[in-house]
Amino acid sequence: MEQPSQASIEKMWAYARKFAEKSGTHFHPDRYITEGVILGLAANLDQYGRPLCPCNFYPSKDENGNWPEGLYLPKEEEVKRRTWICACDEMQIYKYCHCLLFVTEEGLPITEYLPEGHEGREIYGLVKDPTPDKGRALGRVLERQKGEGGHEGPAPE
Ligand code: SF4
Repeated sequence: MEQPSQASIEKMWAYARKFAEKSGTHFHPDRYITEGVILGLAANLDQYGRPLCPCNFYPSKDENGNWPEGLYLPKEEEVKRRTWICACDEMQIYKYCHCLLFVTEEGLPITEYLPEGHEGREIYGLVKDPTPDKGRALGRVLERQKGEGGHEGPAPE
């Protein structure tokens, strides 16, 4: 991976600090984990103009501009939607960060709100949210819509 620009690294640190505070989450006790994710986000910001989650495997386009069907799009396409732009939909809905950037004080990702069968639940078991009054902005909107009998909005991936 090419070294991201200092400006993007600083931007991502500032963003992550602010988002952790807002969502009631912490950085991982192992600083290398946090630094690695910040560098990945900064590299994507440099290359694609948006902080695309660095912890997914995005397919590449073939010579005809096609790519295999799957959960993820090629990076240059994925940045056009917001699903995996940090803070991604999973964070905004379930408060779950599979990169381990936004975690509990002990360094575990919050899995309490994940749907049954989600891989996060299978890997980490039930990890309760120590600050349930913070974060999950999109999750709260969807719950409200559901409560009002409206549609549930976009299905999380
Ligand atoms: S919040 Fe989502 S996009 Fe951001 S680092 Fe975590 S998993 Fe990746």
